[in-house]
Amino acid sequence: MNIIMNTSFKEYDYLIVGSGLFGSTFAHQATLRGKKCLVIDKRPHLGGNVYCEKIEGINVHKYGAHIFHTSNQEVWDFVSSIVEFNRYTNSPIANYKGKLYNLPFNMNTFHQMWGVITPIEAEAKLEEQRAEARAMLNGRAPQNLEEQAQLLIGKDIYETLIRGYTEKQWGRKCVDLPAFIIRRLPVRMIYDNNYFNDKYQGIPIGGYNKLIEGLLQDVDIKLECDYFKHKNELDAICKRVVYSGPIDEFFDYCYGRLNYRTVSFETTVKNTSNYQGNAVVNYTERDIPYTRIIEHKHFEMFGDEIQKCSVSVISKEYSTEWKEGMEPYYPVNDNLNNSLADKYRELASNTKDVIFGGRLAEYKYYDMAPIVEKAIKAFVLDNTDSRKK
Ligand code: FAD
Repeated sequence: MNIIMNTSFKEYDYLIVGSGLFGSTFAHQATLRGKKCLVIDKRPHLGGNVYCEKIEGINVHKYGAHIFHTSNQEVWDFVSSIVEFNRYTNSPIANYKGKLYNLPFNMNTFHQMWGVITPIEAEAKLEEQRAEARAMLNGRAPQNLEEQAQLLIGKDIYETLIRGYTEKQWGRKCVDLPAFIIRRLPVRMIYDNNYFNDKYQGIPIGGYNKLIEGLLQDVDIKLECDYFKHKNELDAICKRVVYSGPIDEFFDYCYGRLNYRTVSFETTVKNTSNYQGNAVVNYTERDIPYTRIIEHKHFEMFGDEIQKCSVSVISKEYSTEWKEGMEPYYPVNDNLNNSLADKYRELASNTKDVIFGGRLAEYKYYDMAPIVEKAIKAFVLDNTDSRKK
């Protein structure tokens, strides 16, 4: 990786705005095929939202816990060729008023909730609860998230594990949220706490920074560089731009600003080697203001390693309304924002020599694996598109 101090007289095939997983994967693919790339980022570090900050020797997921998971063989082989992944398996726990439940909803959860032992007993209990919800509706369609959730999974699980958590996430009561937010609530009739159904999951050994550093090994980089502050000089030295920043900002908010939900993190060092015994504990009661606590060491330390490190770093997560200046995390997919995003996408599709990609430039939530896949495809597409050549 080369840190650029003075970019004058340089010629680049691509200027890549944003060193997140999209920009870094694109830069890697392009460099591998002989293209010269300059990656810039307005932040003082690489990696976008997968960046990890070292605190007390522990990799802290600064922008929220990230677990890589995929069933896409090509993507898994690709990321594993850059960095080795560990065996971390996501199995979050829910804490409701001091009682613990396994997630996702599976036989362990049903046993903890009702004392049932067999799948037949659990299915009967679920059906009894769903029937109660159907009787309450008396033939009419569910009008809000509360009614929809009870219809899908019954009152007990809704009240204990869904209501408070969802209300904290959305900042609104479930009775005021639309029913369509929850279309399905998958249940697993086996004793299996693995959150993901994917074939592969894990955390890069040494943290996500290793993945990004591997991707950007032979790429020129400029940090603390806001594209819009240096647009003219940067455009002048690059043939094409790959833009992974917010799409509305690219067009100077000409149709107005897109909205987001955000998360704020309260990170503290705890004087204990093992604070909660698990990477992820959700707090599902409404009265506790945070949604979950992440204990970062459990992403990368297993067995005896946990005790050897005498401290631990935890982050409490608070779901918050987004305001200008805050990190934009989750797009708000309501009608207003969707139609605004469509108008910007239309402008983007008519913008010559700029490739828009990534979660902010597409105004769409993507997990990491689909982002890697999209970046690989974006480079291929750009180099097989004969119209611009
Ligand atoms: P980003 O990582 O946001 O990168 C964009 C970069 O562009 C940033 O570094 C930004 O500083 C830079 N930039 C923007 N504007 C400018 C500008 N004007 N000039 C210069 N630079 C600029 N996915 C999973 O698979 N598993 C998970 O467990 C998971 N957890 C998540 C938790 C949270 C809280 C969130 C929000 C997302 C999570 N994701 C997870 C999704 C994952 O974060 C994204 O898929 C991935 O980070 C998207 O990469 P990106 O490159 O598109 O965007």
